[in-house]
Amino acid sequence: MEARRPLLPVWLLLIGLTGFVVEGMRLAATAAELGYAPYWSPVFSGVWEGIDPHVIRSWHWYTWWFHGALALGWTAALPFTPKVMHTLTAGVNVLLRDLRPKGKLAVVDVEAAFENNSPLGFVTLEDLARKDLLDLDSCTECGRCEMNCPAHNSGKLLSPRTIVTQLRDLADRETPLFGKVSERQPIMQATIRAEEIWACTTCMACVEACPVYIDPLGKILELRRGEVMIGDRYPDTFADVFTGTQKRGNPWNQHPSSRLEWAKGLPVRTTTPGSSSNMRWIVSRERFHCSANSVTV
Ligand code: SF4
Ligand code: SF4
Repeated sequence: MEARRPLLPVWLLLIGLTGFVVEGMRLAATAAELGYAPYWSPVFSGVWEGIDPHVIRSWHWYTWWFHGALALGWTAALPFTPKVMHTLTAGVNVLLRDLRPKGKLAVVDVEAAFENNSPLGFVTLEDLARKDLLDLDSCTECGRCEMNCPAHNSGKLLSPRTIVTQLRDLADRETPLFGKVSERQPIMQATIRAEEIWACTTCMACVEACPVYIDPLGKILELRRGEVMIGDRYPDTFADVFTGTQKRGNPWNQHPSSRLEWAKGLPVRTTTPGSSSNMRWIVSRERFHCSANSVTV
């Protein structure tokens, strides 16, 4: 794929160049019949000055077909050149962009998903929705997401652009346009490393920066979900967070009875269900985490 990349600009240049040559030949061969001075392709029409118009017409025929084959071949090659495929798909992707508030996570019914055998995160490419696949084909590889990614800029392994292109390349390998569809491989074993997805701070800078409304963050979150829910793989430091959330309802694994510790000695009133008075909801971090206690009120 990488080796083919220099071919694309050269191919485009040839299409433009042969277009000027064809037009120059036409002007040179029909100069006597033209009722106007040929302003276009003057260089290429000048080259043919003094040559028999019949010879020029004959060369024009060959060059016209060569130019046509180059242009049509370019169009036919689009599906095989992901770097250029975005010229067809990016507009569609912008049209079908997600209009929901950015960063809002979908609520997942875990039990229903297990019962219905529905995907829980991305494990293989089977789990990607059509819009996710369209996202992959729409990437222009402009690098804006990568430039704005704080994790990437601080030297971490993560690049949102690479996440998108790695998924796209895997899709191309597993589902070639021609040939046999190969067996689906787990994404995290086939192409993406765990360090990449866990380095994401979920800041959404990549989503904001993408000119064609691709959502690299959504893919990273689904890959993480797949790792945790299906693969039971996550960084060691997460074990306490999961245990605390599951057993005690807070990620700091603090006993629920200590939730009002922070308010000791302060003139804080608690309220009862149904009360209509104004109140402030003290969230988990403020309630339990020692570093936040002193600034909670
Ligand atoms: S959401 Fe993740 S991948 Fe996107 S810019 Fe922020 S840290 Fe980088
Ligand atoms: S900003 Fe969007 S189009 Fe550009 S490289 Fe990132 S994902 Fe691809």
